[in-house]
Amino acid sequence: MLPVKDAESIILNLVKSLQLQEDTEIVDLDTAVGRILAAPVVSKLDFPYWDNSAMDGYAVRYEDVKDSNPDRPVTLEVVEEIPAGYSPKVTLTTGKAARIFTGAMMPSGADTIVIQENTHKEENKVQILSAPQPQEFVRHKASFYQAGMPMLQPGIKIGAAEIAVLATAQCTELTVYRRPQVAILSTGDELVSPDSPLQPGQIVDSNQYALASVVAQNGAIPIKLGIIPDRPPELKSAIAHAVNSADIVLSTGGVSVGDYDYIDRLLEELGGEIHIRSVAVKPGKPLTVAKFANDCLYFGIPGNPVSALVSCWRFVLPALKKLSGLAHNYQPAFVKAITRHDLRAGGKRETYLWGQLHLVNGKYEFALAGGSHSSGNLINLAQTNGLAIVPLGEKLITAGTEIEVMQVGLT
Ligand code: AMP
Ligand code: MG
Repeated sequence: MLPVKDAESIILNLVKSLQLQEDTEIVDLDTAVGRILAAPVVSKLDFPYWDNSAMDGYAVRYEDVKDSNPDRPVTLEVVEEIPAGYSPKVTLTTGKAARIFTGAMMPSGADTIVIQENTHKEENKVQILSAPQPQEFVRHKASFYQAGMPMLQPGIKIGAAEIAVLATAQCTELTVYRRPQVAILSTGDELVSPDSPLQPGQIVDSNQYALASVVAQNGAIPIKLGIIPDRPPELKSAIAHAVNSADIVLSTGGVSVGDYDYIDRLLEELGGEIHIRSVAVKPGKPLTVAKFANDCLYFGIPGNPVSALVSCWRFVLPALKKLSGLAHNYQPAFVKAITRHDLRAGGKRETYLWGQLHLVNGKYEFALAGGSHSSGNLINLAQTNGLAIVPLGEKLITAGTEIEVMQVGLT
């Protein structure tokens, strides 16, 4: 059985990221949030666009006011008023000032702002009560960004901050990677969809919905291919169709050692190369990972609903993020937390116990979900935001100990 870290690195090595040439599309600012940038953003505009005032006050020539003090204030003639959005008309000469407001453009001839608190206004004159620093409170053109320089790099996820930057720079059309397509199928004769009446012995297919949600939350397109019975011909054609229509395929069920577990054999018959058959992890040991000649990556995930979600969070998501064009940050986020409860494991597999992370006085605490931690119980998964990790070889971690917790459910 493969240790978790080894499985993770095999999977990441198998991923072929989307390509800069073929796998991109153009989006506008309204639809760009959450997408991965695929080309550098360069603006034609400097930022600030022009010299402007950082404060409400007076634009002056430093030379005129450098010796001002409360006892001997310098008096200047106010020749123009410059609100934000107005283009100044007058060039300041010696002895002149302009009334100016935050964000407004500096008039030519001026080099310094005196804040209004340090002035005294008299009709069309202003007294400067104390000397400013040279160039004080002037935001200089291009001091934050110079036109033509790289502004944003490919491989980053576009969030609200990037949208603000792009809007400011008037970059309204962006090249982003297309969204990855993830085909999802549930296998099992016992399965019915959530809206079908339940017959004795049947089980509702929750996996299809859970996995599609993870995929959609992470910016990819889920393609739900439905429930496939445990019959090799139907399974084989469903898998073949999935592999030919998606970047990643997720199937649940049929990867254990039961009489109806056909997935591995069918993957091989269809030309898939199997790289992983099981991982030393609980839940989720019988994980199959195969790669096809068209670069499609196939995850045969155990059917147990908890195993399915944990496997998806732990192994599928990093692959999906890498494939999406993200340049970094595709591994899960792990945080240190103090466990509030004893954590038990068998010792032979790295064990993930679900529960909740709480931030208490700036430190994380982990509370184990109440109820059974059987991988057949799925009800107490609700509101999980962390998986506590009991490392290989350990059977008991006592309450109060610092542990590692994988954050889940983040996007
Ligand atoms: P399997 O991996 O096919 O042996 O399935 C293991 C367990 O998970 C069985 O109890 C199945 O009924 C259950 N199961 C399999 N697929 C699903 C699914 N899509 N949704 C919910 N439970 C499932
Ligand atoms: Mg099954």
